[in-house]
Amino acid sequence: MTSMYDKLIFNLSTEGSEGISLPENDVPDFDFRHGLAEELLRKTDPGLPSVAEPEVVRHFISLSLKNHHIDRGFYPLGSCTMKYNPKINEDLARLDGFVAAHPHFPDSLVQGTLSLLFELQDMLREIAGMDAVTLQPAAGAHGEFTALLMIRAYHNHQKRSPMKIILPDSAHGTNPASVAMAGYEVVQIKSNPEGRVDIDQLARHCNDNLAAFMLTNPNTLGLFESEIQKIAHLVHGAGGLLYMDGANLNALLGITRPGDMGFDVVHFNMHKTFSTPHGGGGPGAGALGVKSNLEPFLPIPIVARKQDRKGTDYFFQDYKRPLSIGKVHSFFGNIGNLVRAYCYIRNLGAAGLSEVSETAIINATYLREKLKSRFELFFKGETMHEFVLSGNKQKARGIKTLDIAKRILDFGIHAPTVYFPLIVPEALMIEPTETESKASLDNFIKIMFQIDDEIDTDPENILSAPHDTPVSRLNEALAAREPDISYQE
Ligand SMILES: *Cc1c(COP(=O)(O)O)cnc(C)c1O
Repeated sequence: MTSMYDKLIFNLSTEGSEGISLPENDVPDFDFRHGLAEELLRKTDPGLPSVAEPEVVRHFISLSLKNHHIDRGFYPLGSCTMKYNPKINEDLARLDGFVAAHPHFPDSLVQGTLSLLFELQDMLREIAGMDAVTLQPAAGAHGEFTALLMIRAYHNHQKRSPMKIILPDSAHGTNPASVAMAGYEVVQIKSNPEGRVDIDQLARHCNDNLAAFMLTNPNTLGLFESEIQKIAHLVHGAGGLLYMDGANLNALLGITRPGDMGFDVVHFNMHKTFSTPHGGGGPGAGALGVKSNLEPFLPIPIVARKQDRKGTDYFFQDYKRPLSIGKVHSFFGNIGNLVRAYCYIRNLGAAGLSEVSETAIINATYLREKLKSRFELFFKGETMHEFVLSGNKQKARGIKTLDIAKRILDFGIHAPTVYFPLIVPEALMIEPTETESKASLDNFIKIMFQIDDEIDTDPENILSAPHDTPVSRLNEALAAREPDISYQE
């Protein structure tokens, strides 16, 4: 459905329309250009749209309805953990004390915020079994990059400069990108036939030149790396460090901890596991937990606590860390994400967090067991919070995974992650999360079976899908390179 309010807001502009009406000016005019350098002054009008408040509201509501989001329907996007975010955490993150605090306030005026951040560091430390935490990185990928800088600082401190970072072939794309950005070289190792790390291959690369091994556990196939202790032993034996991509922490809360498995550093995706909605391009948070060997290199500042003369707690930003890699984010990091994460963890408590992961695993296992009767389960192991199907059998009947993904959209459901991880042909990576009801899961199973039936009864209907979305199939490369966002009558 298109609406006249879908036009660009600039095209909705009508001269004389206004969103607000101010009283007549009753003080002398002041020329704000006064004192500004000539070259800083604008030569042309900024051309801002003149639109009345109701039109502005209709414009943005209409656009929001064109998007799929977790508050609208099921979103089984594997790896991304698109789960429902409790609204209470939104309310709390919007409290004036957090929102209105100026980032330049001295520590003494933001004791509440600092004590929350201190406690959050502590809770994440406990959840992951690590020794220290930084809350600064702004995303998972930024956490990876920060960790790699710390890994380099650690090796340099020991007068070493190994250059290789090992990654399994199931790694998320941000891993090799972060490695390249940090100036390291990627060594990719193949997964074994079960979809896990091939220990013999890993062993061959464990030498003097190994800086770190980056691993996702459970890996992106949803499989727990059962040889993790052996892996840790091999990597540490070569003088390397073990990095955990913790974006899949939704599978582990209260069940096991990266620190206990032998990881030296782990990043948390607050916007996947801890109650920040994502997918809209808003800010994220990719806190990092580290073992004591990496602690001196954490970015500054760390939120610390001391007692004042009266014995009361005083929280402050600790900048006196001589081996720190420096700053990676302005001020405190993305506070809204951190407040939501704090509230989410406090709200659920330890027992609640365990239940999150147990339910996420049960939901995924239920879907996997139902769907595998029609879709090939390429790697057969016991998966955790997500699993990867192959559309091989469907492709043999003329319908590719991409076509299935497009047809799913007609049912008000976001498509699973497709064609990732690369080691599964025609991959459909499904992560239902713990916040879906059995009815919602059953509905998804019914739709997947219906689409599978349709391959034989009405393949044209799949090939021409989606039918009910604002736009149907796009030339995706062209749409990304030359986006046409204008309104079509
Ligand atoms: C999402 C994800 C990342 C990257 O996190 P961003 O916050 O998107 O940068 C890294 N690894 C895995 C496995 C992920 O799912």
